[in-house]
Amino acid sequence: MNKFMKLAINEAVNGIENNDGGPFGAVIVKDGKVIAKAHNCVLKNKDATCHGEMQAIRKASKKLGTFDLSGCEIYTTGYPCPMCSGAILWANIEKVYFGCDMQDAQKLGFRDKQFQEELSAKPNNIFQVDRQDCLKVYERYKQLKNKADYWFKKLAITPFAYFTNLTKHITQN
Ligand SMILES: [Zn+2]
Repeated sequence: MNKFMKLAINEAVNGIENNDGGPFGAVIVKDGKVIAKAHNCVLKNKDATCHGEMQAIRKASKKLGTFDLSGCEIYTTGYPCPMCSGAILWANIEKVYFGCDMQDAQKLGFRDKQFQEELSAKPNNIFQVDRQDCLKVYERYKQLKNKADYWFKKLAITPFAYFTNLTKHITQN
């Protein structure tokens, strides 16, 4: 077994034994070294965003002192949900290794697959309001000097292709 996936599984087991949340653990690795280990704490923290990957990203960012986790890889017991997939992209994490897929999670009653499908369809519960007023804040931001450059790390592929590539990667291991 992959040693990092083993750590992610241990996290997931800790999580379910303590009733912290679902059976999901995640480990972030950089240059072969473990930066952060975490598990789902949705129930413990009473916070829907505390998925294993999100927890691991928060810990890793705190440890490295930056939101930018370029050069990092994440090992997760379950395929990242849309929220975590987004966070992985925002954090510039370069590779994802997952154990169970969305169908496996669905069998336990988790809605990852449903959300993925809903997000790829045109949502009917999102409404645009006061764009011009919101644009003024964007404009003000644009004028700021010394603002953070979020574009320094660009993925050459779209998120979907990104995850398709990752899927391929893990099946080769
Ligand atoms: Zn998630």
